[in-house]
Amino acid sequence: MGIYVHIPFCRSKCFYCGFYSVVSLQWKEAYIAALCREMEWRKNYLPGSGMESLYLGGGTPSLLDKDELEIIVHKIHETWVLNSDAECSIEMNPEDVSTDKLKVLKELGFNRITIGIQSFNDELLKRINRRHTGKMAVEAVERAVNSGFQNVGIDLIIGLPGSHPESLVHDLEILNNLSVSHVSVYILSIDSNSVFEKLAKKGKFRPLDDDTLAEQYLFVCDYLKNIGFEHYEISNFAKNFKYSKHNTSYWQQQSYIGLGAAAHSYNGHSRQWNVANVKTYIESINNGILSFEQEDLRLEDQYNEYCMTNFRTCWGIAPDDLARMQPFWWRETEGKIRNYIRQGLMKPCPDGRIRMTERGWLLSDAVLAELFVV
Ligand code: SF4
Repeated sequence: MGIYVHIPFCRSKCFYCGFYSVVSLQWKEAYIAALCREMEWRKNYLPGSGMESLYLGGGTPSLLDKDELEIIVHKIHETWVLNSDAECSIEMNPEDVSTDKLKVLKELGFNRITIGIQSFNDELLKRINRRHTGKMAVEAVERAVNSGFQNVGIDLIIGLPGSHPESLVHDLEILNNLSVSHVSVYILSIDSNSVFEKLAKKGKFRPLDDDTLAEQYLFVCDYLKNIGFEHYEISNFAKNFKYSKHNTSYWQQQSYIGLGAAAHSYNGHSRQWNVANVKTYIESINNGILSFEQEDLRLEDQYNEYCMTNFRTCWGIAPDDLARMQPFWWRETEGKIRNYIRQGLMKPCPDGRIRMTERGWLLSDAVLAELFVV
């Protein structure tokens, strides 16, 4: 079981980003007060008490100051019990990674930092409207490591406008010289509500073609494996088994509570998501109501979600799990999987599970669409 807290504030909007966040900070204080009330109301959302992970994501949680972080973390401890080995992560932007901020985070119990770097190339960073330079990104990682964080991860994006094979190699070589234990590599997509989506509609932005993206993805996968990273999820690589515990719990369909505007929660049989609007979220909580929508999962939803989440990881699916859920559906799925194994898109694991290959992951949207039961 895990806790996700969404901090939907950013200093500016990155051009590729479709996540819900606002660039005005005027609601910060009222938002944190509302978050604390939501915690009180929903403390029994998950059964049991021991939480295995806490994740502050956004938006930009690292723009919160010491007092704001303290209020949130103290309220979490007042409301739930975090296991002694719980993973406590926070997303940071390089410009926020100061020695003072890192000290505060350590004191508050954070033991995992993930830094949104995207690229070390200044020209590319400008084109996507990031606020940091490559040098600032390198210094941020070094500062986090030197402050005693043993679990530091970075995010990179491939397929950025203006990127080329040399810029990719440049990014990977810099990464290779840093002490990071986790890398998330995302392929640039045109997210709805992003600046790139608007530009693409006007014909002013064209993403790289699929073949080039596939080539870059497979190149990065090979490079990272050669320098000791394990490719454990479509977009995620870890050294020394330092998988993201929190995100792995999503992929293994464990329950979690999501707090704040636009945050999603899952309790094993239903999903719910809070209103994706800071102002409405605060106003509704101030009026004594949590504004959210909920979906009860039917058996076919659970079957499809099991495939969708487990196939994302290198551990894949257990045939018995699916056969137990619905033997008739499994007989159909099994035939399709045999086909994918023949095509090299899936492979059986020694422990009897079945996983996608890296080539399968590249085509996972189409593969999963064929596996889904309706
Ligand atoms: S990528 Fe991160 S910092 Fe940039 S707009 Fe999106 S949430 Fe904000």
